[in-house]
Amino acid sequence: MSYLASTDPEVANLLQQELERQQSGLELIPSENIVSEAVLEALGSIGTNKYSEGYPCKRYYGGNAIIDKIESLAITRAKQLFGCDHVNIQPYSGSPANQAVYFALLNPGEKVLGMSLPFGGHLTHGWKVNFSAKYYVSVQYPTGKDGYLDYDDIARIAKEEQPKMIICGATAYPRVIDFQKFREIADSIGAYLVADIAHIAGLVASGVHPSPIPFADVVTTTLHKTLRGPRGAMIMCKAELAEKIDKAVFPGLQGGPHNHVTAAAATTFLEAMQPSFKEYAAQIVKNAQSLALELLAHDFTLVTGGTDNHLLLIDLTNKGIPGKVGEAVLDEVGLTVNKNMVPFDPRSAFDPSGIRLGTPSMTTRGLKEEEMKIVGQVIARAIAHHDNDEVKKECRQHILDLCKRFPIYTTLSYNK
Ligand SMILES: *Cc1c(COP(=O)(O)O)cnc(C)c1O
Repeated sequence: MSYLASTDPEVANLLQQELERQQSGLELIPSENIVSEAVLEALGSIGTNKYSEGYPCKRYYGGNAIIDKIESLAITRAKQLFGCDHVNIQPYSGSPANQAVYFALLNPGEKVLGMSLPFGGHLTHGWKVNFSAKYYVSVQYPTGKDGYLDYDDIARIAKEEQPKMIICGATAYPRVIDFQKFREIADSIGAYLVADIAHIAGLVASGVHPSPIPFADVVTTTLHKTLRGPRGAMIMCKAELAEKIDKAVFPGLQGGPHNHVTAAAATTFLEAMQPSFKEYAAQIVKNAQSLALELLAHDFTLVTGGTDNHLLLIDLTNKGIPGKVGEAVLDEVGLTVNKNMVPFDPRSAFDPSGIRLGTPSMTTRGLKEEEMKIVGQVIARAIAHHDNDEVKKECRQHILDLCKRFPIYTTLSYNK
């Protein structure tokens, strides 16, 4: 019997149920992925036992000789993978990483310009309920009517508002982001440029999406989205900002780093350097485009009409149901998606018009263009017959069949 099952059968059983949920449904939430067994092993390691406040070879606790090597290895690999000057691998997650950047570059009350959340930006880019709008003055840019970033409009807002920092990057934007244009806008007013590539890091690392490293002063990313690593984050920056960034993370905001996550991050970077990961990243985009074509063929409305990356935004208005019904119906058939606002959404954040879906997890399972057509057809049928239990049962069976053909974690078990 596993240690967990014998010590705590209650948690073991719940984890087993979650494992079976992940195995028997397709995950279409674009910010999620399925890490390798190797990453899981590093994440579940004894790194968690150690306190290591400080940075490699500059710690406030003894016994860190080996942890220093683990953190240095993660940093060396991250630098190689992204081609950046400096890396801080300690932020606990994406939001704290962004908070550290604000703390490093701005004084409270100074102005920041970020993408508006209802148009695809992240909470931490200056949305009203978040620290980034409460402790700083926040100005937000929308997309154009067509759903694309409108760089002329962003330049106009920047000139009018004179923010000290501009954040680009998104959480629900299906197209390529032009980091060079953002650099030009930032330079025109002498602002810092921060690129948050949380969603697209795996695509950037593989050259499937252009890199912001040559253009941005600071680049933040999570590790657990397209990069396919543990929940965590890192900050990359130019050498001249390294000290400010490091001091903001520790001792500015955090205590000890999560060394088990750092170990898993190092393994993630090694995996991401392999040729097979480049193929994976390219396949993510091919799959998203194949799914987009199938959905368009079934008269779905896609924001911007398609995708360049790993995600799609569907406006369900013409299908006669709101996003939350779409989310619930697809959940019933074994497809996990999330309801999402679309640009200029007449509905609310709690009850938006659209759903957001992506291909990183399905691509990790090995599904390709052919299977995306099946998934697209299942989505179309389930949505069209959302009140027909017979049809939904058939759809559920199609998804179960796909899950059996592309299994995950075949040797893993928590309750035995
Ligand atoms: C996911 C995301 C984050 C936040 O990451 P958490 O780990 O959830 O805190 C930050 N920025 C963007 C653009 C994201 O998509």
